Amino acid sequence: MVETRILRIDPERPDPALVREAAEVVRRGGIVAFPTETVYGLGADTYNEAAVRKVFEAKMRPVDNPLIVHIADFDQLYEVAVDVPPSAASLASRFWPGPLTLLLRKSARVPGVVTANRDTVAVRMPAHPVALALIRESGVPIAAPSANLAGRPSPTTAEHVVRDLYGRVDLIIDSGDTVYGVESTIVDLTRDPPVLLRPGAMPVEEVERVLGERLVIPPFARGLGMADAALAPGMKYRHYAPLKRLTVVEGDYTNLDGYARKVLEVVLDAATRGSRPAVLCSTETADIYRAAGIRVVELGPRSNVFVVARNLFKALRAIDEMPDVDEAFAEGFEEKGLGLAVMNRLRKASGFTIVRV
Ligand code: AMP
Ligand code: MG
Repeated sequence: MVETRILRIDPERPDPALVREAAEVVRRGGIVAFPTETVYGLGADTYNEAAVRKVFEAKMRPVDNPLIVHIADFDQLYEVAVDVPPSAASLASRFWPGPLTLLLRKSARVPGVVTANRDTVAVRMPAHPVALALIRESGVPIAAPSANLAGRPSPTTAEHVVRDLYGRVDLIIDSGDTVYGVESTIVDLTRDPPVLLRPGAMPVEEVERVLGERLVIPPFARGLGMADAALAPGMKYRHYAPLKRLTVVEGDYTNLDGYARKVLEVVLDAATRGSRPAVLCSTETADIYRAAGIRVVELGPRSNVFVVARNLFKALRAIDEMPDVDEAFAEGFEEKGLGLAVMNRLRKASGFTIVRV
């Protein structure tokens, strides 16, 4: 057990004295859970091997699953990466700070423990004022994965972090809810054409617009099956998973009413087998399940998938907390914009238990 302190920092106007306190923990080789605009991260001084190792231990994360290096200015980019291609410079100048992670060649300064001994490094500049202030004040790039126990849904509030990591980390910064609620988009720029390793809060379409070319989108980036470990090391593990069984029910969303009725059949079928199901669904279709007496967790409107993404991990955790629910069925969403990230997370969370109706 580690003694865990909790520090409440205003996300809009971070109190410099509190940020200094948190940065002091990083500088002394401690590990700190901090808010970003995507999800909460668990950070350590990138250049301190022992500190980075503590991140893996606290999360019980396999050591072959590399971390993202979070930076606060462009000098730090050239400190941790080499051979930075022009495409990286254009994406970074357009989207940083923001929820886009770039995979680049790693510099000798970054210890192997951060990158799982690969010759590449994942880098991003987060847009959250507390994250940026913390990195600046620490004076070093902060290596961080999401601040959850390995395999669990990523934390979108400090309460989620407390639930998973209290007693395992030195400090938890509480700045309320994160903005996007899904992790950053990861693009591998060491390959030509560039490859999408993980869809996330930055829509792929926007990245393609700036690059002027299409990304390669491997099936695993859509959440369809396991990743090739050589390409995306962390992606082979079960991720985002609730403890209860989750099934994703996919179909034709252009005929929404007909689709939801078919989902309802699948759900009622489970109920007749004696299971007590809940449905994760869109605002538009929620009443169809409610009318049939099914427990509903609304994710948000299909017309604004941003909201769906934002609520997703919270909803997955909520299912686990419902005493009268045995399993969950999730509606599918169109794989456009943030919908691609939503479907990647849902399919992976289900352990690829996908039904087509
Ligand atoms: P997390 O922030 O918890 O979502 O974890 C960061 C993710 O970034 C990992 O799961 C990796 O798949 C990915 N990542 C980080 N570094 C690399 C790298 N060098 N090569 C490929 N993927 C990486
Ligand atoms: Mg993670």
